[in-house]
Amino acid sequence: MKTYTLGRLVHHTIKSLHQIGIDSADLDGRLLVQWVTESMPLEFISHPEKPVSLQQRDRLSTALQRRVSGEPVHRIIGKRAFYGLDFILSADTLEPRPDTEILVDLALPFLQSCAVINSRVSCLDMGTGSGVIAIALLSNLPQLHAMAVDITKDAIETTKRNARCADVANRLTVCESNWFESVTGQFDLIVSNPPYIAHDDIANLDISVRNFDPLRALDGGRDGLDFYRELAAKGKLYLYPSGKIAVEVGIGQKQDVEKIFSQHNYRLEKTKPDLKGIDRALMFIRDEVDPRKGE
Ligand code: GLN
Repeated sequence: MKTYTLGRLVHHTIKSLHQIGIDSADLDGRLLVQWVTESMPLEFISHPEKPVSLQQRDRLSTALQRRVSGEPVHRIIGKRAFYGLDFILSADTLEPRPDTEILVDLALPFLQSCAVINSRVSCLDMGTGSGVIAIALLSNLPQLHAMAVDITKDAIETTKRNARCADVANRLTVCESNWFESVTGQFDLIVSNPPYIAHDDIANLDISVRNFDPLRALDGGRDGLDFYRELAAKGKLYLYPSGKIAVEVGIGQKQDVEKIFSQHNYRLEKTKPDLKGIDRALMFIRDEVDPRKGE
């Protein structure tokens, strides 16, 4: 019998994913083969002759069945890269999206500017999921201490594991809480990528999201804006006077979210678009704060 090799397996996998109409067949095929064969990212090019075992092929065929049923490749693999770090996913955590890196890009310079003034800087990540936002910020700012809040035990456990992998666990406090309910303390920044899909729109989401991301991480209530209301109403209880709130928003939500925050005396200080030019990340500052004393 002919030996099955890494190069051959990548070729066949990509071909079958193409045949069933998967747009990201090239990338998915490489990632799945790399995962089942425990290879390095470009090993299928540097060592295409590497033999593949029967068990690895069996594992791949199970993974392919899951992919065919619509499950996203990173859910199958159980992890995804975010801001240059690898994050473990679990049942109650949203798969981190590249769009959310924009929120980190917006939040980090503000926290860095706080670190110039204070030796200890703090941030609160509301609805942390797998912990991506808090952990990405922590790993880029040694003076930062963060609290990561989530309503599910599963997400909290996943965040703890991810913090250990990123070597920032000593600066992260996790808090299992229904939004602000059990949160105590004051922070320089509250950051959140809250669930922001309007309840009735969930049925129209792509199957890869609707069936595989946890509903609780998506559903933002009747108009999708419930959690922005909560952040705008209660945030200031947990912020230092010069503190800010940074949030990710869904497509077309910027004006509504700005209005909600302005009703609670915040003004939009900065906006950062995603790679498609859609305003994704918004930073709010308390209106009563003199902006010259702000940062
Ligand atoms: N903060 C996590 C993320 O951005 C989870 C967000 C959520 O569950 N809505 O991936």
